[in-house]
Amino acid sequence: MPQNKKSSQNRICPVSRKCGGCQLMNMSYEEQLRFKQAKVIKLLAGFHRVSPIIGMHNPFHYRNKVQAAFGRTRGGEIISGVYQSSTHNIVKTESCLIEDDKADEIICTIRKLVKSFKLTVYDERNSRGFLRHVLVKHGFSTGEIMVVLVTGTTVFPSKNDFIKELLKLHPEITTIIQNVNNKFTSMVLGDKESVLYGKGYIEDILCGCRFRISAKSFYQINPIQTEILYNKAVEFAGLTGKERVIDAYCGIGTIGIVASEKAGEVIGCELNPDAVKDAKINAKINEKANIQFACADAGEFMLSMKEQGEKCDVLFMDPPRAGSDKKFLSSAISLAPERIVYISCNPETQQRDLFYLTKNGYKVKKIQPVDMFPFTAHVETVVLLTKI
Ligand code: SAH
Repeated sequence: MPQNKKSSQNRICPVSRKCGGCQLMNMSYEEQLRFKQAKVIKLLAGFHRVSPIIGMHNPFHYRNKVQAAFGRTRGGEIISGVYQSSTHNIVKTESCLIEDDKADEIICTIRKLVKSFKLTVYDERNSRGFLRHVLVKHGFSTGEIMVVLVTGTTVFPSKNDFIKELLKLHPEITTIIQNVNNKFTSMVLGDKESVLYGKGYIEDILCGCRFRISAKSFYQINPIQTEILYNKAVEFAGLTGKERVIDAYCGIGTIGIVASEKAGEVIGCELNPDAVKDAKINAKINEKANIQFACADAGEFMLSMKEQGEKCDVLFMDPPRAGSDKKFLSSAISLAPERIVYISCNPETQQRDLFYLTKNGYKVKKIQPVDMFPFTAHVETVVLLTKI
């Protein structure tokens, strides 16, 4: 179990109470890993023995995606930071123990530029004002950096000078996007997007494959642990080169593309059209000819596979926190893959879904927790099920 002895007590976060993002801030890293192991054991040990959690050597600054909300204090000062938990009050932050330092630096610069360019910030109460959020994505392997300026209006006063100044201060930025979001919503990104600089996406490398990531597509936020997670998932799949594989909830196609080398054929399925677009391009970039992608609800997709009498040997499934639905699970059972590799960021919904699968012809063979989110209470697990 790799881990260092450094505890968070050596490093103080001034806003941890208000932010609430790091629920385990008061624990040493070793204690955090024990806490997560116990959580997974409590929920999943009834199915099978739980392997020891795989932790990080350095659990700080792992987040490659950082977002900050912009607003004003009562006194009128422009601030940026995170929302106080369960509220829309912005907690002013300059840096963060788990976020990429470079992204935080860029956000601080933007806050200064907003002041010097006399731009306004968005006010949720009256839906007025310009800058609402800043989102930064950093490809740690390639060094590419995307900055998304989420604005309440399409009009961008002093746009060219602002961009020029930002690039002068941060030449490492490789692309800048304006995303317009003037809706009453807690979603950060709106529908309308325009590229102000660069190619409009970044690339990153995982498990030897290159991936294009756009502003709206999902991409794992801890690339070091993602490689470990994906390698475990592919190992559990036990591919021999002949299998027909489904990668359900595939995002930008990462797991399927990494696995495709060892499979006969892969079919990815994902709901978000931007992610599917990225996935198709990613298959091309990596010269994978044996993988296709469908843009659909995973449950609908599995149902239609079943109705068309399609075959599936191995199923990877990596649903969002809510887990899968009955439509998905019952269709998966009818398709009867030899092995199911269930990757989950929420062991509670995974437990529910495992109850269903194990009552319907599957047996849990391996459970591997991976710490993808140090200092938070979240834990990722990979579970292997085989047909009885
Ligand atoms: N396997 C990918 C993505 C996992 S996150 C990776 O490792 O990067 C879960 C993904 O499921 C997201 O991309 C999300 O857009 C997608 N998703 C959410 N609900 C879905 C549904 N009902 N059907 C298909 N995909 C869905």
